[in-house]
Amino acid sequence: MPAVPFAAVFDGVQPPGPEDAERIANTRPAGWRSPRPLSRYHLLVIGAGPAGLAAARAAATLGASVALIERHELGGNSLNDGCIPSKALIRTARLLADMRNGPNFGVAVPAECPFDFPAAMLRMRRITARVSRGDSAMNLVRAGVHLFFGTARFSGPDTVDVDGLTLRFKKALIATGSRSMLPDIPGLAEAGFLTNETVFDLRVLPKSLLVIGGGPLGCELAQVFARFGSRTLISHSEPLFLPQEERDAAQMVSDALARDGVEIHLNSTVTQVRIEGGSKVAELVNDGNAATTRVDAILTGIGRVPAVQGLDLEAAGVAYDAQAGVQVDDFLRTSNRRIYAAGDVCLRHKFTNTAEASALIVVRNALLLGRQRMSALTIPWCTYTDPEVAHVGLYVKEARQRHIPVKTFTVPMHDVDRAITDGEEDGFVKIHVREGGDTILGATIVARHAGEMINSISLAMVTGLGLQALANVVHAYPTQGAAIRQAADAYARTRLSPSRLVLAHRWWRR
Ligand SMILES: Cc1cc2nc3c(=O)[nH]c(=O)nc-3n(C[C@H](O)[C@H](O)[C@H](O)COP(=O)(O)OP(=O)(O)OC[C@H]3O[C@@H](n4cnc5c(N)ncnc54)[C@H](O)[C@@H]3O)c2cc1C
Repeated sequence: MPAVPFAAVFDGVQPPGPEDAERIANTRPAGWRSPRPLSRYHLLVIGAGPAGLAAARAAATLGASVALIERHELGGNSLNDGCIPSKALIRTARLLADMRNGPNFGVAVPAECPFDFPAAMLRMRRITARVSRGDSAMNLVRAGVHLFFGTARFSGPDTVDVDGLTLRFKKALIATGSRSMLPDIPGLAEAGFLTNETVFDLRVLPKSLLVIGGGPLGCELAQVFARFGSRTLISHSEPLFLPQEERDAAQMVSDALARDGVEIHLNSTVTQVRIEGGSKVAELVNDGNAATTRVDAILTGIGRVPAVQGLDLEAAGVAYDAQAGVQVDDFLRTSNRRIYAAGDVCLRHKFTNTAEASALIVVRNALLLGRQRMSALTIPWCTYTDPEVAHVGLYVKEARQRHIPVKTFTVPMHDVDRAITDGEEDGFVKIHVREGGDTILGATIVARHAGEMINSISLAMVTGLGLQALANVVHAYPTQGAAIRQAADAYARTRLSPSRLVLAHRWWRR
């Protein structure tokens, strides 16, 4: 990975302004005075993203002495440059798309919807500030957490150094998260580019944008900027976006991006970037064919790498890998039995809910002698494109790899009354069960509100309800969530065996 000069990455983006004052006051108050350290903490937490915050709050609630160390801002990636700002912008982009679709609903709108990019960014900053109140430094202090701002590194198996101060612990949690993976493209660093750490600081809408990477971040933000009016291109090295998702779900995202005017380059590599006449010129190779594009800005979103650098994990005897992160067992213990890890720094699935859930496992296992396993959790996730793609449990290919026979029940959203009335017919609900029974193995939902809908399937899986039970749940009518009931009904119909049907027919003919 190339070393990138900060100025090049920053790419003309403005530093925080007055509208960020409330967020910064909550997440990194000026003139913070560190508390006098205890002789030893029951739990020392490094990193105050979703994982570190969840662990610190839970441990303090249990009455444990807790030290929490953050080098940047409380809230981590999720609050400051991930989930919250991206979802706030997605909401504006969705409104714009709905407005442009107004005539189909009998609503006259001007041919060109007036769009104020700085106002949309200001709304996003206000929302981030509001959400930051829950993660504020003062709230942590009130909960009894000892909060230290500084960079932590291990100085021994049970000690951590924070900018010259030594803290001793009984148990520690590494929750240092992840950072953007930077592509190794000749000329990119010199030309300058955006990542999730800088894109939310843009003050001017780029007229044209090249997004490199077709994972969740790339797809979500490509759609946002296309809807905002940037000429947007997306380059992805594989044949379909969202490589982890089922092919038909990924295809729907591709179709949706194309409808929004995103220029799609699949099986594509950016081979070189250069500056020409104030623009960035990128050379792409698509399926062996060369293409050149000229853009104002480039956003990279090719993945995340665990933040293990500078922690001096060797001093604590914690095994790690630069790509996979801190090595943990199913109880989230590292190779040093006093030290645990949670969240992006050690897990394959890098999501806020996963980070928080794993942190709570650590609190139970480290402080309450628990034996909770990470693999026992059922965790849904969602990509917030329009339509959204949500998933929980096993994919069909995973079930096959484990030799589990699968039967799938699918309902297209165009067969769901509420999706028809809402004009939101793109997508499907697909539920996989173990063949011969109704045990739910997993589900994929593509729908405008798939992220909301997937939760009822997670609930069923966690509580051991089968698909038959979902068929018995009366849903409010008309709702898009009723698609789940329709899939369950399809399952229930398969339980009507031919012999039972023959008996029923005979009964009616009596
Ligand atoms: C653009 C974008 C959108 C996203 N959207 C979603 C979404 O919609 N839903 C979802 O579930 N997930 C989403 N994610 C992922 C989510 O943000 C992360 O999975 C989550 O923040 C991980 O939490 P964490 O606590 O493990 O790490 P982080 O949030 O990365 O926090 C780690 C913290 O540790 C601190 N730290 C690191 N090293 C040190 C050190 N040596 N000393 C002291 N402090 C240190 C960092 O400063 C940081 O504050 C998104 C991510 C991005 C980039």
